[in-house]
Amino acid sequence: PATETILAVNNIEVIYDHVILVLKGVSLAVPKGGIVALLGANGAGKTTTLKAISNLLHAERGDVTKGSIIFDGAEVQDQSPNDLVKRGCIQVMEGRHCFGHLSIEENLLTGAFTRRDGKAAIRRDMEKVYAYFPRLRERRNSLAGYTSGGEQQMCAVGRALMSKPKMILLDEPSMGLAPQIVEEIFEIVKDLNAKEGVSFLLAEQNTNMALKYATYGYILENGRVVMDGDAKSLADNADVKEFYLGIS
Ligand code: ATP
Repeated sequence: PATETILAVNNIEVIYDHVILVLKGVSLAVPKGGIVALLGANGAGKTTTLKAISNLLHAERGDVTKGSIIFDGAEVQDQSPNDLVKRGCIQVMEGRHCFGHLSIEENLLTGAFTRRDGKAAIRRDMEKVYAYFPRLRERRNSLAGYTSGGEQQMCAVGRALMSKPKMILLDEPSMGLAPQIVEEIFEIVKDLNAKEGVSFLLAEQNTNMALKYATYGYILENGRVVMDGDAKSLADNADVKEFYLGIS
């Protein structure tokens, strides 16, 4: 049977400030249970694509002017970020954005704000997050602002998990982190994908690492998809090697 698609982005255009055309017709798809990488240099439009999907652009005076976004069978381009979270699609922003003055555990609890299934269920899911991220359990009572960058990234992903997502839009988890920590985080992403069935759209400048964990990838340049394919074929492609992997 054909693989089901959990997210389909069809030909979206994004304009900032009424004049700056930043996405020039981007289309992509994420299969249910997949990990798809969205690659490209700084400024290529990765973050804008994720924010367009989450509907977070309006606040930045950016608008989707064209195209459609289908998540889990429904058109969602006009849904609020909040409604999208309730449907099961949540974004983990670049730069982590934990509440520095709250403890790790309190941060995790904020992730459950859209849920109505009661404290016991939320408690159970918190234990699950701690099982995936033992470091967060150790640091549960520490103020997030005093934890390491890697722990804050884990906290941001853990908080997203507390909304019981079907899909996470993960924006540059590797940013500013040591390779070993990046690998630790990607291993957890792989685990969450395999064991919980969470689908991922992963925006990354770290092409090498992203292609190691993703099954499929899209490369954005200047607001357009210039190449896409299986992770392996991208990693073997001569242009990708030269321009994105630093091998030639
Ligand atoms: P990064 O690695 O910096 O996240 P990116 O590939 O995610 O890069 P975007 O952040 O999506 O790229 O930016 C794409 C383009 O849109 C850039 O040229 C950027 O300057 C521009 N841009 C981003 N946000 C805004 C905004 N709020 N207003 C105007 N232009 C913006």
